[in-house]
Amino acid sequence: MVPKKDLDWGSLGFGYLKTDKRFISNYKNGAWDEGVLSDDANVVINECAGVLQYSQSCFEGLKAYTTEDGKIVCFRPDMNAERMKNSCERLEMPVFPVDRWVQAVVDTVRADEAWVPPYGSGATLYIRPYMFGSNPVIGVKPADEYQFRILTTPVGPYFKGGAKPIVIRISDFDRAAPRGTGHVKAGLNYAMSLHAIMDAHRNGFNENLYLDPATRTKIEETGGANVIFVTPDNTLVVPKSPSILPSITRRSIVYIAKEILGMKVDEREVYFDEVKKGEFAECGLCGTAAVISPVGKIYDHGTEYDIPSGMEKMGPTLQKLYDTLTGIQMGRLEAPKGWICVIDE
Ligand SMILES: *Cc1c(COP(=O)(O)O)cnc(C)c1O
Repeated sequence: MVPKKDLDWGSLGFGYLKTDKRFISNYKNGAWDEGVLSDDANVVINECAGVLQYSQSCFEGLKAYTTEDGKIVCFRPDMNAERMKNSCERLEMPVFPVDRWVQAVVDTVRADEAWVPPYGSGATLYIRPYMFGSNPVIGVKPADEYQFRILTTPVGPYFKGGAKPIVIRISDFDRAAPRGTGHVKAGLNYAMSLHAIMDAHRNGFNENLYLDPATRTKIEETGGANVIFVTPDNTLVVPKSPSILPSITRRSIVYIAKEILGMKVDEREVYFDEVKKGEFAECGLCGTAAVISPVGKIYDHGTEYDIPSGMEKMGPTLQKLYDTLTGIQMGRLEAPKGWICVIDE
């Protein structure tokens, strides 16, 4: 095992820290080159690059963990590779082949292995693969040349305070149009959410809860995490919509609920009225960064709707799902086949 860097792992926030190596591959004349692991953290591109003019970019996010028995692993990277393929196709960008994609993640994490936080520190190594149009584009069209990069950075919890329930509010802004790009991980989905998130923070809320733009009656998701609910009779209720980003964490939680915990799972349209009527016992946000973050209150234009599990701690069912998911990721529990990609024994 590679010795760890000398960092105060426990006090890391969710921020960028430059690590040793990053993967870089360029697409030119219709083909991806071999790719390299580089020391250079800076990107140099033309002033008229497609990404700078028309935001042609997409990204992924996953984590590497040190397991209880000292292995370095990452969680379902093939799912991220597939999702980035879908993002690229929607954005007229060239696909980086799925098998090479997973191998590049493995190679990058191996090169930055000293930066994978130790088991039990509460921190993980965040892996950020991303792609952008790199050659000059001035008429509106896709770029001809692209760069695919993978950077890593050690991170602590996404929400300050870790497992403390958060307060979210119904947003007056929309996240994704009904037939837009909500289902792909495009940078542009985030650019237009920045004003909404800053406004939420200025008003004392942790996040925005977006409703469907067409009817403003159904729950979609927050800016960067899917939403899940638990009913008093212990059914997991998962909002379904073609404009929700297909979270890998959420799909893993659905599998865990059904196949490991034997719960009933209901994936369907969820109306905000159901929250108002108090039909849910627990609510949480889920994603690679958020893991499962409990929601204690949802604020809607002057009215606060309390989630019965309260503001003190995560409810019992979300806690069970959290313990099972993180148990699998950290090697304490046996993983379903294909979920754990071992990077170093
Ligand atoms: C990345 C992302 C998520 C979480 O997806 P995971 O695969 O679980 O990390 C949820 N919502 C949005 C909008 C996202 O961009």
